Amino acid sequence: MSIEQNLKHIKSTLPKNVTLVAVSKTKPVSDLMEAYTVGQRIFGENKIQEMAEKHDVMPKDIEWHMIGHVQRNKVKYMAEFVSLIHGVESFKLLNEINKQAKKHDRIIDCLLQIKIAEEDSKFGMSAADASALLQSDEFSELKNISIVGVMGMATFTDDTTQIEKEFKFLNHTFSELKTLQPELKTISMGMSGDYKLAIDCGSTMVRVGSSIFGVRNYSN
Ligand SMILES: *Cc1c(COP(=O)(O)O)cnc(C)c1O
Repeated sequence: MSIEQNLKHIKSTLPKNVTLVAVSKTKPVSDLMEAYTVGQRIFGENKIQEMAEKHDVMPKDIEWHMIGHVQRNKVKYMAEFVSLIHGVESFKLLNEINKQAKKHDRIIDCLLQIKIAEEDSKFGMSAADASALLQSDEFSELKNISIVGVMGMATFTDDTTQIEKEFKFLNHTFSELKTLQPELKTISMGMSGDYKLAIDCGSTMVRVGSSIFGVRNYSN
C-alpha cells in the first residue's frame, strides 16, 4: 500500500475529535511530501536536528511536533517553529523551553509526559509530580509555555489488557490534572500497534508512524 492509501485508510477510522500526528522519523522528505500532498499537515519527529532540517526544506504550513525525549541544550534549535512538544517531564526542561520561546516572542504548547508503562526504559513523570508542578509558584511564572495536555507510552507488549490498563490510567491522570488546569485538552496516546485501543480509552491525539510510512530502517 502507498503512503496515500495508508493515510486515507487510517483517517477513515479516526473519530473527528482525534488528531493524527504522522510520525516521520528516519523517513526521507520525499515520503513526507507524499503525505503532505494528500493533505497531512502534522508531522512528528523524535530528533530535534532531523526535525529542524526537514522544517527548513518543507512547506511552512506544517505543524511540527517533537515526540521524542528532549535534551535541554537542543531546545534552542526548535524554539522558533515547533508547535507542540510531547515529552516534557521536568520543570528544568519546561524552564528552558520557556526561556527559548521568550527569545522568539512565542508561547510554546507542551504536553507533560506521564510514566504509564511498567518498563524502566520509558520516560515520564509520575501523576503526583505533574500535579505538584502545575500547582507550583515557579510554574506560574512561566509565561511563554502553555501546558495543553498529557502524553504517555504504553509498555511494549502483546498483552492488550496491560496496555488498556495503562491507557486508562493516563486518561484518569488527565482528568485529575484538568481539575487544576481546566484548559487541558489533549491526551496523546496510541501508536501504530495500539491506536485503536488508545482511542477507546480516550485518546485525542494518536502518533502513527510505521502504519503510514512503512517499517523504519535504522541502519541508514
Ligand atoms: C516512533 C514513535 C511513534 C510511532 O511509532 P509507530 O509504531 O511507528 O507508529 C509514536 N510515538 C513515539 C514517542 C515514537 O517515538
